[in-house]
Amino acid sequence: MQTYGRQPLLLSKGKGAIVQDIYGKEYIDCVAGIAVNNVGHCHSKVVGAIKEQAEKLIHVSNLYYTEIQAELAESLVSVTGMERVFFCNSGAEAVEAAMKLARVVSGKSAFVAAEHSFHGRTIGALSVTHKNMYRDPFMPPVSSETTFVPYSDAEAIRQAISGNTAAVILEPIQGEGGVNIPGSEYLKEVREICDETGTLLIFDEVQTGFGRTGTWFCKEQFGVEPDIMGMAKAIGGGFPMGAIAATEGISFERGQHASTFGGGPLACAAALASIEAIEEEKLLKNSKEMGAYFMEKLRNMERNDVVEVRGKGLMIGVEIKYPCGKFVDFAREHGVLVNCTSESVLRLVPPLVITKEQIDTVVDVLEQA
Ligand code: PLP
Repeated sequence: MQTYGRQPLLLSKGKGAIVQDIYGKEYIDCVAGIAVNNVGHCHSKVVGAIKEQAEKLIHVSNLYYTEIQAELAESLVSVTGMERVFFCNSGAEAVEAAMKLARVVSGKSAFVAAEHSFHGRTIGALSVTHKNMYRDPFMPPVSSETTFVPYSDAEAIRQAISGNTAAVILEPIQGEGGVNIPGSEYLKEVREICDETGTLLIFDEVQTGFGRTGTWFCKEQFGVEPDIMGMAKAIGGGFPMGAIAATEGISFERGQHASTFGGGPLACAAALASIEAIEEEKLLKNSKEMGAYFMEKLRNMERNDVVEVRGKGLMIGVEIKYPCGKFVDFAREHGVLVNCTSESVLRLVPPLVITKEQIDTVVDVLEQA
């Protein structure tokens, strides 16, 4: 249906931080499927786990148990520090599940979300997504009760919470909105306000999760625990999957939510392998170290058209003074894939296995661009 604004590139292979087109030309991939391929393209562990699982069992209904799903549930409870999980298939579905859970647990229906937020393209997730371009053609929203408030302004959230607010939903760092990092106390203050007013707090860690910002989840860096957290993107090492986690006492009751494919054996095998790879290869540390190295090099570029370089771990935004489409084209032509978000922000979210040499090349190309 021609819905994507595609670039003239036909990809056929990938390994680590490199993808190859059909002519054999290689690219350093700072897009990584938009923050998906955290363990690198075609990680041998993930490939092996998918192959092995595909020989045994590809799909069964959630009417039955599988060991692999239970193992992943345990593993996610451990890495999130939360109590319960529900499996789905994408980020938008995770947000839908989080919204449904907040409504059913609180008995209230409204949401408070941030300006410049992005939570997905399904109608429910769109209801808490801010950008008019994504929303307007599909209005009215399912929840007409979303109040959008400026990001990184806790008092605005206090003002916006009403007696009917089920939850506040926030990205700990806004991705699509331009890699926006809130003030260091913001999320703590929001947590306090939610506790005072009896409002649930949902973190959408779809983009920031699984080591992207240098810790398993970005919430750790702000020392704040949400009641419900959405995950997707990197969870399955490239294989499609989504999930929500919630704290004790916050749960659906039997029959309140379901998904045919959610938590299927292949996705669970891929996710377990990916989590193991992140641990074994110390990718959280690499994300922190390479992220710091990358940002320092970007900040040292001698360019007065750069407004700001910002980020955490390997979630980096380079804001420039004008629309960045031409940079994306130049970089691609010179063997580097980058993405432009929020019109003038180059978003760099490479696999967490990226090396210093690869970063040097990327910065060289961006400087030329
Ligand atoms: N939430 C956030 C923070 C995202 O960045 C995205 C996608 O970019 C989504 C939700 C939607 O995820 P999906 O495209 O898997 O539905």
